[in-house]
Amino acid sequence: MHHRRQNIVQQIEETFLSCAVCLQPYDQPRALQCLHTFCEKCLGDYCKQQLSRHEGATMFPCPVCRQDITIPPNGVSGFPYNHLIASLKDAVRTNDRPDSFHSNRVLSATSERGERRPISTRASVRPSTKCSARFGKFGEKEAEFSNISGLTVHPVGDIVVADCGKNVITVMGFNGISKHSFSCKCCIRDVAISKFGTLLVTVSQSDGAILHEYTLDGRFVAQYGDKYAQENPFGIVVTSRNKAVVSGITKNRILIFNERKKQTHWFGEAGDTLEHFLFPYYVTVNSRDDVIISDSGNHRIKVNKMDGKLKFSFGSQGSKDGRMFYPMGVCVDYLDNIYVADANNYRVQMFSHKGKYLATPIKNTFAYGMDVKPISIAFSQDQLIVSLRGARFAEIQVFEWDPFIYAEPRSSLLGCCGSYNKVADSGLYHAWS
Ligand SMILES: [Zn+2]
Ligand SMILES: [Zn+2]
Repeated sequence: MHHRRQNIVQQIEETFLSCAVCLQPYDQPRALQCLHTFCEKCLGDYCKQQLSRHEGATMFPCPVCRQDITIPPNGVSGFPYNHLIASLKDAVRTNDRPDSFHSNRVLSATSERGERRPISTRASVRPSTKCSARFGKFGEKEAEFSNISGLTVHPVGDIVVADCGKNVITVMGFNGISKHSFSCKCCIRDVAISKFGTLLVTVSQSDGAILHEYTLDGRFVAQYGDKYAQENPFGIVVTSRNKAVVSGITKNRILIFNERKKQTHWFGEAGDTLEHFLFPYYVTVNSRDDVIISDSGNHRIKVNKMDGKLKFSFGSQGSKDGRMFYPMGVCVDYLDNIYVADANNYRVQMFSHKGKYLATPIKNTFAYGMDVKPISIAFSQDQLIVSLRGARFAEIQVFEWDPFIYAEPRSSLLGCCGSYNKVADSGLYHAWS
């Protein structure tokens, strides 16, 4: 028994709490925008070595995933400190019963203000919401996933998944059974559904195009955006007027395409003030076609009008309710509440349409496996659908979620008869300002 515990601790330390550069337990863990964490010193040495090859460079490729990372103005110490990793390391090391990481015991972690707060582990506190389905698994075989980067729900009731590891789009039912999948020669990122029911897929390294259009059964229809090869597109959403909104993570800006998928304008540039973005990975729109962007590197969500004017922004780096640590996927429900995959905090948070924190529907996703984080999310008919990514882990989970339980009461939601049909009626909740 003792031997087994030792193995588990070793496994945790090797795969979850070890730096991929020095292969040792983290020392001063710093988290990058790609969600990988390294020792501050390892990162400093690695950066120096990389930058010596290219004079004047301000970016370096992540040692693990090779994604280009912008160096903060004050150097690698400007990357956020990964408190959770640091606390877990302490908890595992000082624990006299090492296998409690997988038991009912509750570990505690030190938050950024120094107070201890409980961190639940497997089976101790399950994610608060009922998970009604889990499907997909990590692997190289057909119907297995490598790295789920995009997720959306087609009006016919299918879940459409973009896998940027295998460059495959998979269409599946809510029962988890894959209907079909098709691959793309370029790098697939995210997927959205056009008003005609076709799939719009963001792609990079594809003769310059940044958008590919396919039918639901995988026939290629067209490609768009040939001139914008340098954008490195990531997130995509289609507005009520069939315009496409795409985020570009190289130039840190948001591109708007008209209904014929011609680019009309863009907004944003790299930086950390309110006008700026840093790794705006994911985008969605609310019922008013406001663009909601996960400004991941700035640990906040920004809500802009289609013309680029900022309406408001919310969130800042941290782990308390309402704070974020590299937010990824964003989606809205039929009340325009905003859901955020708060990846490095291992949770999904719910905010009002004005950005007020309401609830945490999904938390402690590391209980599912080593470093398992929520990445992309979608909402459909009282269900939150989340893709989870970890060390050799890829899964989709469906949670029953009734937004009315947590939504702020809004008098405008009640019609003259005092009732509100959340499914059929979409007109009433346009009334808010
Ligand atoms: Zn290291
Ligand atoms: Zn990385």
